[in-house]
Amino acid sequence: MAAAVCDVAVIGLGAMGSAALCRVARRGFSAIGIEQFSPGHDRGSSHGESRAIRLGYFEHPSYVPLARAAYERWEELERLTGESVLTRTGVLEIGRPGSILVAGSSEASRLHGIEHEVLDAGEIMQRFPQFTLPADYNGVWQRDGGYVRADLANRLHLKLAKDAGAEVIENRKVLRIEPEAGAIRVVTDSGAIEAGSVVVAAGAWIGELVPQLAPVLKLTRQVLCWFEAKQPEAVAQGKLPVFAIDGPDDLAYGFPDLGLGFKCASHHSSGALASADVARQDAGPADEAQMRRFLDAYLPGAAGRLKAMKTCIYTRTPDEDFVVDLLPEDSRIVVASPCSGHGFKFASVIGEVLADLATTGETHHDISRFSLARVAA
Ligand SMILES: Cc1cc2nc3c(=O)[nH]c(=O)nc-3n(C[C@H](O)[C@H](O)[C@H](O)COP(=O)(O)OP(=O)(O)OC[C@H]3O[C@@H](n4cnc5c(N)ncnc54)[C@H](O)[C@@H]3O)c2cc1C
Repeated sequence: MAAAVCDVAVIGLGAMGSAALCRVARRGFSAIGIEQFSPGHDRGSSHGESRAIRLGYFEHPSYVPLARAAYERWEELERLTGESVLTRTGVLEIGRPGSILVAGSSEASRLHGIEHEVLDAGEIMQRFPQFTLPADYNGVWQRDGGYVRADLANRLHLKLAKDAGAEVIENRKVLRIEPEAGAIRVVTDSGAIEAGSVVVAAGAWIGELVPQLAPVLKLTRQVLCWFEAKQPEAVAQGKLPVFAIDGPDDLAYGFPDLGLGFKCASHHSSGALASADVARQDAGPADEAQMRRFLDAYLPGAAGRLKAMKTCIYTRTPDEDFVVDLLPEDSRIVVASPCSGHGFKFASVIGEVLADLATTGETHHDISRFSLARVAA
């Protein structure tokens, strides 16, 4: 069978691959996206109703310019499609004394001139009476924070990619990447594709295709819960912002009810996974009990009847920063592992970065923090 030929092949069509395929195709390059399952599947990291987005970035202030660019590109996606992708509910980050969540977020906001307020526990409870907080807690309020509609955003990126001529191949697994003199050969379980360059956006499977990442990336089981709220107004859109609370036992976050129930989850791992393929929908009573304990302490109107639980995978680097880089051995191969549980909000701009790297070998965005060498070494 003759190999299909394209300028850029994108391996993996989660949030990052879909966004990259969209950018590459809209620039006029021939592009093929390859996904081992069907796009929108629930076995990776990108599915679901919502992901939090915020500007004042507690993880490190250097993410702020990228976050700003991500906001602009989500708005561009809205203009191009006429759909509502990004909703600003405000973001409230609350922590116990000394919490990095509060200190990091207010510092990043201060350094980058982002509108924010630092509030003590009393001020938070006055403004958002659904929270019950110890007196020594405080928080940061950012008006521009909110959520991105994740499934919708991924679907829209893929639609725009196809509209611009990209081919999407579903249910086909890439087995290996073979760099040759004239092209990169992408060998799948059903034929091969020859591409001028390749974006590897394989999420929790990336270690199979980029072996230097396999020993350093940790895959963790993450559990999401949806509750029918005891007090619906406590979690209603317009009443509850997207929030995160850094308590002594857990760092958990939640979203206003978008119609499916009140969604919340812990950012901490609930177990290491030996590979992405062993992940199961196995959330159970212990996961529910942990979430209930947390909510009953801080948001007592939230955890009524359990409506649903789901597991999802975080792909974590040792320092929890992303990997977005050219492969040192072959600069036609772009490696994208922007996860550690906080990548989605950036997908709109990471797609652009990946398209830049795949088509020109460089990008004007500052991705120096995301080098492969720092982790692969
Ligand atoms: C529970 C949870 C909550 C999160 N909350 C937030 C949040 O609030 N805000 C935020 O910014 N981020 C959040 N994140 C992180 C964010 O969702 C991820 O950073 C992002 O989805 C990663 O996207 P990805 O495209 O790299 O990976 P994935 O979504 O896993 O996509 C990779 C794709 O590659 C495919 N693939 C893999 N190997 C192959 C192969 N060999 N051949 C073909 N296809 C292949 C997979 O099937 C998959 O579809 C959260 C993540 C989780 C799990």
